[in-house]
Amino acid sequence: MRDINRRLVLHLIRKRHPISRADLARVSGLQRSTISLIVEQLIEERWVLEGPTGRLPRGRRPTFLRLDEGRIIIGVDVRPIRTTVALADAHGRFLSQDVMNTPGDPEAGIAALIASIQRMMSASKGRTIEGVGISLPGRFDHAQNRLVFAPNLNWRDLDIRTPIAQATGLDVELENAANACVLAAVWFDPSPAVRNLVVVTVSEGIGTGVLANGQLVSGLNGMAGEFGHVPIDPQGPPCGCGGRGCWEVFASNRAALRYYREASGQSSSDFIELLNSADGGDEHATQALNLMASYLGQGMRMIVAGLAPERIMIVGDLTRSWQRFGPVIEAQVQAQTLPGGCPPDVVPVHEDGMARLRGTVALILQKHFGTGVEVPD
Ligand SMILES: [Zn+2]
Repeated sequence: MRDINRRLVLHLIRKRHPISRADLARVSGLQRSTISLIVEQLIEERWVLEGPTGRLPRGRRPTFLRLDEGRIIIGVDVRPIRTTVALADAHGRFLSQDVMNTPGDPEAGIAALIASIQRMMSASKGRTIEGVGISLPGRFDHAQNRLVFAPNLNWRDLDIRTPIAQATGLDVELENAANACVLAAVWFDPSPAVRNLVVVTVSEGIGTGVLANGQLVSGLNGMAGEFGHVPIDPQGPPCGCGGRGCWEVFASNRAALRYYREASGQSSSDFIELLNSADGGDEHATQALNLMASYLGQGMRMIVAGLAPERIMIVGDLTRSWQRFGPVIEAQVQAQTLPGGCPPDVVPVHEDGMARLRGTVALILQKHFGTGVEVPD
């Protein structure tokens, strides 16, 4: 209960700052004394600052509250090709960014991350760095403290946390990229909160993050959400996971590039280029993307049937061409809705790098404020 109230008060200050204690009590429905207690604690912990003093009619002068912007978080988005390290405040606003190529070698990768984090630390003197949140294209086993399943990244079965925590002295939290996007939606999405949400990230592979009944689903060893590795054709092409014909082999960016290569005899290694070629009227590119869209829609049907989410958020470069992908995916989702069911909203997330990074900020915030969805609007 304490966590829930603290989280509620923090969210309200974040969303409505500057806000007075009286207004916090009115909006949250909590007792004035409870609000005072929580606010004093947040001020003491330096999450919240007092001031300025407001002016109201009849001479009352309430003290407004706002987030302490000197409290900052380092977010890291590791992707198979590029890695971004960013500095953010507790509003999830980014103050600076450092982008690098992801080293294929895990040791070199961790060394590069440490160097970049240390640069951010020395550029942030005078501010409190609360921790490092890391989003990964794999599953993180929180019990074993290891990256256990990352078929599109060579850094497997690896302890990433300990060397970074030791070198920087900071608290380090890791999470799968799709789960990070779920957390970003829970903490920072301006649209009304939902308790049943699936985020589907589509890039080199396909990942899903599942929020069910207001809780992020992790499953045994953190492995829940691997819809991308459910085979939809056991005779299909081999997959990075060791299986064949997985959903991601048919519906990822890589799949579209393969369709294009097979149809045109030309190779293209860049998905954005493929989107541009299709927009420019290239028939092979159009066919390749249409095939990818159709497979994406087919896979969505198992998500709708299995989880009955209120909202599905799609993250990835394909959202740049939503007029092509959106109608196909929405039609399949509608077609899967069973009698008595209600189709979920399908929402493209247009700034995918930001969603992952915001999720890493939420990862650190939820260490202090707990998990769960009871976010006021
Ligand atoms: Zn697979």
